Amino acid sequence: MIIEPNTSLVSYTTFGVNVQSKYFVQVHTSSDVRDIVTHELWQQEKHYVIGGGSNILFTQDFDGIIVFNNLKGKKVVEETDEYTIIDVASGENWHEFVVWSSERNLWGIENLALIPGTIGASPVQNIGAYGVEVEEVIESVTCINLVSGKQEMFTHDQCNFGYRDSIFKQHPGKYFVTSVRYKLSKIPRINIEYGAIVDKLAEQNITSPSTQDMVRVVSLIRQSKLPNVGEIGMAGSFFKNPIISEEHAHTLLQQFPDLKYFPLDNGFVKISAGWIIDNLGYKGVQDGNVGTYYKHALVLVNYGNATGSEVWEFAQKIIRQTHDVFNITLEPEVIIL
Ligand SMILES: Cc1cc2nc3c(=O)[nH]c(=O)nc-3n(C[C@H](O)[C@H](O)[C@H](O)COP(=O)(O)OP(=O)(O)OC[C@H]3O[C@@H](n4cnc5c(N)ncnc54)[C@H](O)[C@@H]3O)c2cc1C
Repeated sequence: MIIEPNTSLVSYTTFGVNVQSKYFVQVHTSSDVRDIVTHELWQQEKHYVIGGGSNILFTQDFDGIIVFNNLKGKKVVEETDEYTIIDVASGENWHEFVVWSSERNLWGIENLALIPGTIGASPVQNIGAYGVEVEEVIESVTCINLVSGKQEMFTHDQCNFGYRDSIFKQHPGKYFVTSVRYKLSKIPRINIEYGAIVDKLAEQNITSPSTQDMVRVVSLIRQSKLPNVGEIGMAGSFFKNPIISEEHAHTLLQQFPDLKYFPLDNGFVKISAGWIIDNLGYKGVQDGNVGTYYKHALVLVNYGNATGSEVWEFAQKIIRQTHDVFNITLEPEVIIL
């Protein structure tokens, strides 16, 4: 384990903004993680864990230690006629695990195909797409407590999952996720709640999709809307879809009859942040070095040499306008550092 000083993070985040970290360390094993916690610098410096860097925007140099996760491996720990339980090391690539599972006809994460990033971030962010959240298949999460250096295991209920939220996100810097235990079903559980999936399956004449069909169809839909990582600097959806009261939604619908919304079970309504930003006229715009993706207004992009603070200033402009026009406060889904 080598602690390197003054390292550029440009290739460690998908936004591709050029910031430096005061120190940078790659960890390959749990024991590397424990070693770093006992290192003298650890007590003096602040620290931050990164995986694929696909949900982070650095707005300035990082004045501390960046811990880059490179823990690898996966192991089937239990198998019955109905399910398989797998432990996956946190530095494994998420989409590769989705493909691996689909090749073994295991159900539960096929709708989450092509989400960039690592296994370790999946519980932190409670990643979700097309009607599925990863918490539905998480049995437990094993971490190293970055204060005590001790290993801790969290059951599903202890993870305190919410919309793009978890106990790990609520205590930034406290835990390093080392592995995640997933329980995947051998019994088909096709989730086609989203119309786009139904349409794509019909277009491909698939009536009884396999896990691999689902992965392919979800990937095709995503590729038609989102840029590939590396194609342009970005971090996927920049803002969360806001949740507002029914009365508020009702008022907005009178003014904006084509408002895109999804009623929730609890009397609240989820509004499409992409629709809002598109409606404000931001789809595909370029403002200096930053802007929005031409196919998806919710994806803020670095058109070249943008700094993180330029991206964040642009985001704040959208937040202000959304508040003025819709009386809604957009919250970033991307972590701003
Ligand atoms: C094109 C694109 C599309 C996307 N689509 C989706 C989508 O559909 N749904 C969705 O939910 N997200 C989506 N995202 C966001 C992103 O892919 C996810 O949030 C992903 O889980 C981030 O993984 P990462 O390894 O890159 O995490 P990073 O960006 O490196 O880190 C994210 C957070 O997790 C923490 N973290 C990472 N690893 C660990 C660890 N081992 N232990 C403790 N904390 C850790 C970091 O400290 C940080 O707080 C998209 C991003 C892009 C670029």
